[in-house]
Amino acid sequence: MHVLITGGAGFIGSHLVDHHLRKGDRVHVVDNLSTGSLDNISQHLTHPEFRFTEDDIVTWPDLNEVVSWADRIYHMAAVVGVFRVLERPIDVMATNIAGCERLLRAVHRCGWKPEVLIASSSEVYGPRTDERLREDMDLIIQPEAPPRWNYAISKLADEAFALSYARVHDIPVTVVRLFNTVGPRQTGRYGMVVPRFVRQSLAGDVLTVFGDGKQSRAFTDVRDTVVMLDEVAAKANARGLIVNVGREGETSIESLAHRVIERTGSDSEVEYVPYEIAYGQEYVDIPHRCPDLTRLHSLTEFRPKWTLDATLDDLIARARRTHGAS
Ligand code: UDP
Repeated sequence: MHVLITGGAGFIGSHLVDHHLRKGDRVHVVDNLSTGSLDNISQHLTHPEFRFTEDDIVTWPDLNEVVSWADRIYHMAAVVGVFRVLERPIDVMATNIAGCERLLRAVHRCGWKPEVLIASSSEVYGPRTDERLREDMDLIIQPEAPPRWNYAISKLADEAFALSYARVHDIPVTVVRLFNTVGPRQTGRYGMVVPRFVRQSLAGDVLTVFGDGKQSRAFTDVRDTVVMLDEVAAKANARGLIVNVGREGETSIESLAHRVIERTGSDSEVEYVPYEIAYGQEYVDIPHRCPDLTRLHSLTEFRPKWTLDATLDDLIARARRTHGAS
């Protein structure tokens, strides 16, 4: 199979590359390396079935040609990470919406129908506080939406584009709402909590828990996520649907901090940082976020293999090896 991965040098994208090369597929990545990194895919650069283009999805001149070559397209390219979103609220809207629309237009014009998976996010559930978040729930957009929600709004626009292309032009598109994903290559630079805690703990620094730490998230290991994405993309009955991708089982951020300290055997302490200091005045955090997986489970029998503790131990061991080698 020929696979195009936009944003394939990013955290999740690069694991999709690993997964498909392992299966014997041919993979083309386009990435502007804004948040992605060449390090994530450097091990594949000499692989005969792998091609990398450094370019922006919004302007890439070869988009039409490569879309025609592809059997499967994962659209992962986006401006991501809370810090990035707060810093560059206009880019988030402009890039995320224009990139997705350009891709869908290219698919429509390419003369045949590659399978398309559009990456959306659990962020679109906004401030909903339901026990389980379901794909068919009404969504809440807060009045005068603070910049944090620009990412969610851009992803909602992408979802609406994708479902409209599916309906109007019969393109085989599926939208996936990704919940908190963790694992190797995720960087803490843009705000993601797990790599930040692991780094802080190994350095003996304080672990910065934002707010009271009672907020919770359900984390999925990226190596499980990519298998689920592949399975969903292959299913004809997932076309035109939105599908949550994640796992159940929430962990509070406070307990995550203590778990990381315990598993690293560090002397680090936990510091509670008020939200307005962590992110600025306008920030609204979400008290808990857990997917309803009924739809996902009706599409695939695969169930995640990585527990959070196994992922943390793996991340800690990798960080120690890298540190030891430098
Ligand atoms: N968080 C934290 N300390 C950090 C980074 C993040 O306490 O150094 C918190 C953050 O406020 C949120 C949770 O961890 O409540 C998950 O944050 P992340 O950015 O990883 O994901 P998201 O907010 O998108 O769920």
